[in-house]
Amino acid sequence: MFNSIKVKLVLLFLAVFSIFFTALEVFLYYELESVVIRLADEHLKSEVGALANLLSIEEKHGQIEKELQELSASASQVYADKLSGHYFQIVSDKGDILARSPSLLLANKSLPVVKGIRAPEFSTTTGPAGETIRMMVQTVLFDAGALTFIAGDSLEDTYDLISSFRRIVLYIFPAVFIISCAGVFILSGWALRPVEEFSSKVGKITEENLDERLESRGVPAELKPLATSFNSMMSSIEASFAKQKQFLSDASHELRTPTTIIKSFCDVTLGRERSAEDYRNAIKKISATVDRMCDIINRILVISRLDTKTIRFKPVRVDLLDVLGDVVRLIEPSAANKGVEMKLTGASTTIRGDREGITEVFTNIVENSVKYNRPDGKVDIKLRRENNNAVVTVTDTGIGIPASELDRIFDRFYRVDESRSVTVGSGLGLSIVKSIVEEHGGSVEVTSTPGEGSAFEVCLPLSHEFKDPPNF
Ligand code: ADP
Repeated sequence: MFNSIKVKLVLLFLAVFSIFFTALEVFLYYELESVVIRLADEHLKSEVGALANLLSIEEKHGQIEKELQELSASASQVYADKLSGHYFQIVSDKGDILARSPSLLLANKSLPVVKGIRAPEFSTTTGPAGETIRMMVQTVLFDAGALTFIAGDSLEDTYDLISSFRRIVLYIFPAVFIISCAGVFILSGWALRPVEEFSSKVGKITEENLDERLESRGVPAELKPLATSFNSMMSSIEASFAKQKQFLSDASHELRTPTTIIKSFCDVTLGRERSAEDYRNAIKKISATVDRMCDIINRILVISRLDTKTIRFKPVRVDLLDVLGDVVRLIEPSAANKGVEMKLTGASTTIRGDREGITEVFTNIVENSVKYNRPDGKVDIKLRRENNNAVVTVTDTGIGIPASELDRIFDRFYRVDESRSVTVGSGLGLSIVKSIVEEHGGSVEVTSTPGEGSAFEVCLPLSHEFKDPPNF
């Protein structure tokens, strides 16, 4: 469940929302409290100011003593009710209470008595009815002496207001929270729908419909690269699947021909009683056909190992002149049979590679140059260094290859039609050559003139270690 992106998004939102909301509530609470206290302080200041003003006017008329006695009676309505939550008292510098608001007097209570000269001071304390009050203390100097005014306003209403604010916020919080969570859940589901569509489409792809592709138009920008890479992956899978299918069908086709030949030899030979000589000849022909089948099967095995990279090339120092000498010696008898003259020229050149693989490459190319040559033709093998490569050119005077076929002769099982009438073959040799050469970081190219001959050029990188003339 916690692996779901939707659930993760909702949980993340839940965490962020809770932190943000709690911080907001704390901030608003303290901000509101400080505003309300500031307003209470302003109110107390104006009350104390009004009282001090009144007394200073009366002092000018010499009536300050009288006014202090009458102040309680003339106090405004908010001070009139017993413990109304609004209080004042006036104290002499000796600490005697000279006047009190009726709200105190009627309950026979007083505010805390302070002595000495006080600059305006504000504090939050407990009032005469046990309520929380905001209190102001200020001393004003009169001709008759210093009088300290102490005024207090209940904060109970203010705290009630703040509490109801908190209650409202606390009621709203779960509602906003639930709606937002549901919103995030729905939104994330909507945002992830293309991913679900992708995965359902991908899930339906089998070997039957490898041509299916993901639609990259109209999907969110974040998913476009996914669709593009998936589509290109599918294209290469489809191509490789088609290649494998083609390979299998070509292989079966190639093996069917010798099998049919063997079958017809057997049928014809067994059709009637024959001499021992006839049977020997038939078995010889069958044996030759089986050799051809073995050759095809071996090559198919090499190709499949090259494809699956199960052939392990052992890179060692290989002197190409040595390898070419061996190849020439191996093919010499069949070349001599056909009257083809082979010539090898070049200096000793060492590369890093698999000796067996490199030998296979040149055996195939040189064998072809004899196989597809005219009787009494020539094969010229040259080895040279060019830039950082060892270059081997095998030129023959054979039947040549039409220009239109040149880039197909490296395909598996591909044989030029003219060649079929000249000699038997599997059409696999050059594809093996190409794979091995590429595996060694090299390249193979061909140029040809039909009726005149062909030239195969193999480039193999010179290993840095062996760039200088090798000294074995
Ligand atoms: P195979 O020789 O067994 O048919 P290859 O893969 O070695 O298979 O060669 C593929 C085809 O390329 C040959 O069938 C032939 O048509 C053509 N080919 C290769 N080498 C030569 C050459 N030296 N001269 C003319 N054609 C050639």
